[in-house]
Amino acid sequence: MTFHHCCSTFTLQIKIEVRAIEIIHTAKEMQARSDRNRREGKTIVFVPTMGYLHEGHLSLMRTGLRHGDDLVVSIFVNPTQFGPGEDLDAYPRDMDRDLELARKEGVAAVFAPHAKEIYSRGYQTYVALKKLPGHLCGISRPIHFRGVATVCTKLFNIVKPHVAVFGRKDYQQLLVIRRMVQDLNFDITIIGAPIVRESDGLAMSSRNTYLTPEQRISALTLYTSLQNARGRVESGEKDAAEIIAAASELIMSRPETAIDYIAVCDPETLDDVTTIEQPVLMALAVKVGTTRLIDNMILTP
Ligand code: AMP
Repeated sequence: MTFHHCCSTFTLQIKIEVRAIEIIHTAKEMQARSDRNRREGKTIVFVPTMGYLHEGHLSLMRTGLRHGDDLVVSIFVNPTQFGPGEDLDAYPRDMDRDLELARKEGVAAVFAPHAKEIYSRGYQTYVALKKLPGHLCGISRPIHFRGVATVCTKLFNIVKPHVAVFGRKDYQQLLVIRRMVQDLNFDITIIGAPIVRESDGLAMSSRNTYLTPEQRISALTLYTSLQNARGRVESGEKDAAEIIAAASELIMSRPETAIDYIAVCDPETLDDVTTIEQPVLMALAVKVGTTRLIDNMILTP
């Protein structure tokens, strides 16, 4: 833009730069880009997502930019982490909106492969952890964490990040990734980022879009029951069964709720805790109508 001050020779030039975002669909192209940027000394920071981005995802991107200068986001609804009868086909998608949000956050490249690019004909290799998936979400979703560990392994090999950021909203997933990265010697630093909530406390999730206004009110009981539990533990309650019973009663008092699990457990191993003597993870999964929601909180006595 050129600004002409009347009659003077003074010229002010303002450069408006609209940053482009690279959109990459194939593993080969993504690997080549990462090799190039690594050679140039860039620090690649990676945020894997299934898209339909919300503030929770955007907060991971902002955290990412504090740890690296080449921010890559993947948008891939990974079929191997969905069981039969789950919402793979219904999962919300809006690529144009996602790309615009990512561009505004300073994302340099989005990796958005087709499922066939990730799982080619004859695919047969999976990454499975022995113990962590035997808890919480892994009980009602028996193939879920195998799908997560497998796709993250593949995405790590494709994006070749130095750093990857995951949300604590999916607490068990973060533990699975940390364990896998350690067990398989991935040279990647894993960062855990806090849960981003709506103003009333509901944890943000792409799946919240499925909720009717009535179900949205029921969904809030995930958060309010965690908050109540935190209050009770801070006031000296040590009995995990009492905490779980109170949460269960509150959630079941609302229409259309069905509890998958409410657990009070060790924040590292996810083994159940009966007496709360040190910080514990309280985690829950509840179906509201047909929408399965999860949330968690650390409770500190
Ligand atoms: P998803 O697209 O649901 O697979 O999530 C991609 C990443 O965003 C995961 O690391 C999630 O833990 C994280 N995430 C999703 N929702 C939230 C949230 N409300 N707060 C923080 N992180 C989140």
